Amino acid sequence: MLKDKKTKITFHSGVLTIGGTIIEIAYEDSHIFFDFGSEFNPAAKVQPSDLQGLLDNKLVPYLDNIFDPKIPLKGYKSKENKFNDTAVFLSHIHLDHSKIVNYLNSEIPLYTLEGTKSLLNTLNINNDFIFPLYEKGQTNTREVIGVEENEIINVGKIKVKVMPIDHDAYGACGLLIETPDLKIAYSGDIRLHGYRENDTINFCKESKNCDVLLIEGVSVSFQDFGEKLRENEAENEEELIEKINEVVKSNPDKQLTFNYYIANVERILNIIKTNPRVVVLDAYFSYVVKEATGIATYYYQLDNKDYGLDENLRVDFKELINDESKYFWQLDTLALKYIDKLKKKGIYIHSDASPLGDFDPRFAPFVKQFEDNDIEFKMMSCSGHARPYDLVKIINLITPKLLIPIHSYHPEKLYNENGDVLLPKKGQII
Ligand SMILES: [Zn+2]
Ligand SMILES: [Zn+2]
Repeated sequence: MLKDKKTKITFHSGVLTIGGTIIEIAYEDSHIFFDFGSEFNPAAKVQPSDLQGLLDNKLVPYLDNIFDPKIPLKGYKSKENKFNDTAVFLSHIHLDHSKIVNYLNSEIPLYTLEGTKSLLNTLNINNDFIFPLYEKGQTNTREVIGVEENEIINVGKIKVKVMPIDHDAYGACGLLIETPDLKIAYSGDIRLHGYRENDTINFCKESKNCDVLLIEGVSVSFQDFGEKLRENEAENEEELIEKINEVVKSNPDKQLTFNYYIANVERILNIIKTNPRVVVLDAYFSYVVKEATGIATYYYQLDNKDYGLDENLRVDFKELINDESKYFWQLDTLALKYIDKLKKKGIYIHSDASPLGDFDPRFAPFVKQFEDNDIEFKMMSCSGHARPYDLVKIINLITPKLLIPIHSYHPEKLYNENGDVLLPKKGQII
């Protein structure tokens, strides 16, 4: 496909799976990789906890001269390193894109937007978000270089522009990659129906007429073109917030709790901004919001860590347990231990929090505990991934010569009205 080009693209993993995307772009003696996560399968029997296990179970591909050389590995050996410049880029914080960054050789620079850098450090404060460093250093997380939105990083002759895009993770980006003979756009995880639609549009404009577009295809894995959204799925983030506020307004004398995904900072800020009740977060979530955005929120605290939060914003947990009118408060893992103390007939809103859905074996028992305690369980979601027709819209805005759909169970459903399509195999080099 790119036979006359010096640039080579290798699809190490994450082509026909959702998660674990690792793609390499090489030009002469320089190369870059993106992203650096592992495949996520909550239903799998074996859940490896180290690099050896991940490699043996083929959840992570072996990459020459890329992993931390201190990690002893049986059965894997790197060839001689013929590259002078190497770098890794992260599109966003979701674990399927970031979980193995601590296994990356500490001498190889890792770039991501400032927002993602902040989340990576704060979410891993207890050393349990991403896989831990082999040799624990001063910090739990390896060094990350935070870049400004739209900054260009040069890796040898490869230029990478790190561009913000719309996704349900704070600090998400796409990459616009230029080598002397090829222009490649990588969407990361992308959508048009969130708070940053204009960022996605801008990414499309700058990527216009690129040679190769690597685009995620999560939604076409589960949905057909034009298929109606699930009942609990909002059209866009604004509609989701309206629906949540509707529940709050129409239940003035019930206990109201909720949970969300910790990296979805923009959603929680908008819930706080518009909710008729006082929104109170778990201290750890409050800390993550504060570190990422500087915004302080009300919180309650059930652990004894020092997050450096403002005492004046602390709400007593007993007050929340007994409340039926003033607060809209977050029910995360620590608070769930008190589920039997909650008010009967209350409502809990599950907004893309963990466990995410039926595919996760933890989901059914999670829902049941609400039934058992006479609390109504309401799922209220808004996907982080572009709807099928929005993916086509993005493709048509970019009009790539070659479309390569990845990060999907059904990449073959995507089409390119203005050029070719390639469905690569794992390990393929073009
Ligand atoms: Zn993803
Ligand atoms: Zn994602």
